[in-house]
Amino acid sequence: MAKKIEKDVLVEIKDLKQYFDIPTGFLKSRKLKAVDGISFKIKKGETLGLVGESGCGKTTAGRSILNLYKPTGGDIYFEGKKIETKVDIEHFRMNAAMVFQDPYASLNPRMTIGDIIGEPLDVHHLYKTKEERQQRIEELMELVGLSHEHATRYAHEFSGGQRQRVGIARSLAVDPKFIVCDEPVSALDVSIQAQIINMFEDLQEKLNLTYLFIAHDLLIVRHISDRIAVMYLGKIVEIADTEDLFNNPLHPYTESLMSAVPSPDPKTARKSKRIVLTGDVPSPLNIPSGCPFRTRCPKAFDRCSKDIPYLKEETPGHFVSCHLLENSNI
Ligand code: SF4
Repeated sequence: MAKKIEKDVLVEIKDLKQYFDIPTGFLKSRKLKAVDGISFKIKKGETLGLVGESGCGKTTAGRSILNLYKPTGGDIYFEGKKIETKVDIEHFRMNAAMVFQDPYASLNPRMTIGDIIGEPLDVHHLYKTKEERQQRIEELMELVGLSHEHATRYAHEFSGGQRQRVGIARSLAVDPKFIVCDEPVSALDVSIQAQIINMFEDLQEKLNLTYLFIAHDLLIVRHISDRIAVMYLGKIVEIADTEDLFNNPLHPYTESLMSAVPSPDPKTARKSKRIVLTGDVPSPLNIPSGCPFRTRCPKAFDRCSKDIPYLKEETPGHFVSCHLLENSNI
């Protein structure tokens, strides 16, 4: 059943850039453009999927949005207000959280599960008495399907799926409106992935959460996302509603990604041909001139090496950055 999405925009990203200086010799460095001017909006209650090959900048984008890295440029708006001052950042951090990819590495092995979940409550002073703290920890554990009797145990005593539940409970401690989920199931067994994905959906419904869901598994992203943004070498090359993107990909890179996804319908599966890209993804230290995808694009032409294409709305809500589409009648 289609999810009801509130119309208001919760988070807006405008021209976000995240560059890193990489030393290349004595007193010399080069700019690594991990995220290079991305823009999008996420509506309240919506899940925006962010996909692309590893190294395309999607994890860095998630971290920059949450200010875990100070962005090199661009603006982030939360509930219509630009995040500018320290007070704005603190307010945003009280309303936003991140679920990390690796539930093994992200939990402190020396802390009990109760203290791991309770730490954000301590940091943000979200209780008055010890009893209140304990009650909130138990509520959070129950929300993610963990028994509160396990609060005194340590992370190594749990399975991967249970550890990710702990990570999710911790992210919910500040009662956030917005969560960046960074490949939250890719380190888990396939048999556990569906349980965790279902839990994300249940929590969204129950707590009215908004997600930026970063992943490389397109079937998972298709299942959970209302819209999807495709990234390549630090830029967004296409954004559309999920089914529109899967049924009608317009950017040559998205076409190749989609051609690798198995079709549930045998008739369309027979018709669709796999588009295999040649060559490797160029280094973000050495991004090609013009269109960053041109060195691997099967449809590249003269203009692609000269001009950078920008995202344009080709059909309502479907944005693409490709010179081929500029004069077409889509
Ligand atoms: Fe390919 Fe050119 Fe379009 Fe880039 S702009 S995706 S190189 S056709």
